[in-house]
Amino acid sequence: MSTKKIHHVVTRPGKNENDKDVQIKVAEDIAGSPGIPTIESDVSFYSREYPQEAHFIENSADRDWLWSQYTDTFTEFRKQYEKQEQPLIKRANHSGNRQPLIKPNTNKDYTEILRTKARKLGFNEVGFTKYDKRYTFISRKKWVKYPNAICLGLEQEYEATQTLPSEKSEHAHFGTYLKEGKLALELAEYILSLGYHSQVHSHSDSSAPYIPMFVNAGLGQLGANGQLLSPHLGSRMRLMIITTDMPLKYDSPIDYGINKFCGKCQVCVKRCPSNALSNKPIWWRGVQKYKVNYGRCRAVMGRYDGCAICMKVCPVQKFGMEKVMNHYVETGKILGKGTNDLESYSLKDKGYFDAKSKPKFDKHFFEIPRGKNYNWIFANFRENVLNKKKVEKEDLSTFTSDLESSLFESDIST
Ligand code: SF4
Ligand code: SF4
Repeated sequence: MSTKKIHHVVTRPGKNENDKDVQIKVAEDIAGSPGIPTIESDVSFYSREYPQEAHFIENSADRDWLWSQYTDTFTEFRKQYEKQEQPLIKRANHSGNRQPLIKPNTNKDYTEILRTKARKLGFNEVGFTKYDKRYTFISRKKWVKYPNAICLGLEQEYEATQTLPSEKSEHAHFGTYLKEGKLALELAEYILSLGYHSQVHSHSDSSAPYIPMFVNAGLGQLGANGQLLSPHLGSRMRLMIITTDMPLKYDSPIDYGINKFCGKCQVCVKRCPSNALSNKPIWWRGVQKYKVNYGRCRAVMGRYDGCAICMKVCPVQKFGMEKVMNHYVETGKILGKGTNDLESYSLKDKGYFDAKSKPKFDKHFFEIPRGKNYNWIFANFRENVLNKKKVEKEDLSTFTSDLESSLFESDIST
């Protein structure tokens, strides 16, 4: 017997092409508004006055530091991965300039044909929405060409994900992106064959944060872990988009009850080893969201195989939204909460932590390079000089050579 009144039921297609639909019951006390609470005029204001930049440019200093934390075997794995990924990024980068192979049939609506094709290729979630230019990163503003976004989600392998944080789960994470990159290029080719342009937005060369568009396309809602909680996979879904000039009927945002459910669950907030997650949402750039403390998170992520404990301990990731929400309606409880099965994890030099224990780190642990590489190099030089109260020749020469390599290696254009 249910203990909670059902407010509405969301019906979604099954996880894979031929799977049955799922019915997600949303209890009355967690029903809210579809998508993400947003103040559109604020989103526009921040986008205009304080446009965002891609993470790998904005945080180039900790990106380099990250590589210094890898084991030898993982460094080798990442190098091999980048070798395989580079041609995909290159093709994606030029994809928007390719011309369609035929003249389009403008009388035909391709929306469902495209959705079926994407599902046949293996994508677990497919949705259509407007590409919201307000989110475009500064360095990609001139690159983005087409108005419609095809949001595509692909499953990261279940078993490996439950071993988070581990090199095994990192292999699954990067492996999924490689697979997804190839599938997206195939889908883009298909769009060209129907007479329309297509532009593949590569995951490691993103044009924008994609979650707002996925939410608008009804593919999930934003969780307290800062990730998209999708119906079947929670945040164990890797995201990519293709933009196109093919006319498409847009999907609508959906209320899965996640905005309020996270307030009751809080498992990721409680289990995050670095206390980087907030327990209440805030308004941020026009959107109401749980804000991740980037610096605290990065210090753990960088040292512990990408961490992502907040993904591992999320019941929606582990059990799927249908089971979690139906369990909530029936019992008023969060499925798996408080159990070691859901909440435990191990960190390589710290050991095992059950649902009631957590690792401790001293404050120096969180002192990692911050911001852009050249700013970080200057900040270190300045601190050194102020400490010594003079500028020595070797300080200047180290500063100059570090600065040169940082500028000419990566982000001189920004
Ligand atoms: S990745 Fe790890 S450190 Fe970062 S927010 Fe998630 S649980 Fe916390
Ligand atoms: S663990 Fe709970 S609070 Fe965190 S994202 Fe998942 S459902 Fe939301």
